[in-house]
Amino acid sequence: MSPRITRKRSRTKEDDNDQPPAKREPELDSPQSGVGAGATSTSGSTSGGSAHPHAEQQTGQGQASDRDDEFWFEDGTVILVAWNIEFRFYKGLLASVSPVFKQLFADCRAVRTVRMDQDQTFSCPVVHVPDSPEDLRYLLRTCSSKRPGRLYDEREPSYQEISAAIRLGRKYQIAELYSQSVEFLQSYFPNIFLEQRQTAALLPPGWKELDAIGVVNLARLTGELSLLPSALVTCICAKSTGPNGIVHGNTQADGSEEHLSPNDLAICFNGKTSLRTATAAAAFRIFKPIDSRVCKRPAACNTAIREVLRSLEDNLGLLLDGDPFPSLRSLCGPRGSIAVCPDCMDMLQERSLREWSGVWDRLPELLGIHVPGWGAPPPPQAEVGAT
Ligand SMILES: [Zn+2]
Repeated sequence: MSPRITRKRSRTKEDDNDQPPAKREPELDSPQSGVGAGATSTSGSTSGGSAHPHAEQQTGQGQASDRDDEFWFEDGTVILVAWNIEFRFYKGLLASVSPVFKQLFADCRAVRTVRMDQDQTFSCPVVHVPDSPEDLRYLLRTCSSKRPGRLYDEREPSYQEISAAIRLGRKYQIAELYSQSVEFLQSYFPNIFLEQRQTAALLPPGWKELDAIGVVNLARLTGELSLLPSALVTCICAKSTGPNGIVHGNTQADGSEEHLSPNDLAICFNGKTSLRTATAAAAFRIFKPIDSRVCKRPAACNTAIREVLRSLEDNLGLLLDGDPFPSLRSLCGPRGSIAVCPDCMDMLQERSLREWSGVWDRLPELLGIHVPGWGAPPPPQAEVGAT
């Protein structure tokens, strides 16, 4: 069922000799300014969203369009026009996964006569979409995948791919694409504290810290608010472009830019103070003196604990600028160890887990945001699949 993908040379209409003059109906064949539910415009906005340097090119009319290098199938049954790039793809395939595309095709009155083979021509519908060519290309790759089912089990998608999949999956109501892409984000930006996790978010391979700006915007766009706390904390702690990196936004390889909204920038600035205060307070509580009910040689162990506290005083940067959920080992100075008895070590490990779990549970409060169900345990397994 899936079409075979072939790469073809990009050609402009001017050098297209297998195609008669376009029978466009200009009054009908116009860009659709808002397709389906949740349509978003890619033009203009540079605040709390994305903008592309070529956004002004999305007129679609009165200028030559290029065929896409990757998606121009000679037996394709619909032409999609994204800005100045044309994609010839399979109408039935898109309609089968997207009720929005299905309706767009049903409503489309603009056609162009194209060749199907040596002898036959075909009145091919021409549908303009307001999406960027890059986004549409990601979408068509997914739709033409030979392996439906789990999209991300065997490979790690880039940020741009996940962003396009969630925005276009939502807009064109491609349920599986949308839900699997949100699940992928949730696995890296979780809402429950994981013991082995020492940072708010473990970035997917190849992603930059500032890609978390886009994750915040996707959470706002979709209402998937459980993504917000760890994405905001990643923004707060991002160091890759200096302390003010989040102010200047994130630029992708294709030149598109993404910025936090003023409201989310304010949340980051205010939340940073609250988060760092909570981290420092938790660290000092972990190293409270231990009493003789736990330890058989409390004097020696408490001397070692005081030594760690003293080293923390000399290294406040660790608490003010480092990981907001530092491991016990990282708090114990350059050697990464503390000379206490096994019972005291168990106690410190237990305190550490309890304190960082407590900070995690308070993240929405510390950031001043509301996240329904934050930190809630998963539903009981017994109810799953009950008949
Ligand atoms: Zn001890």
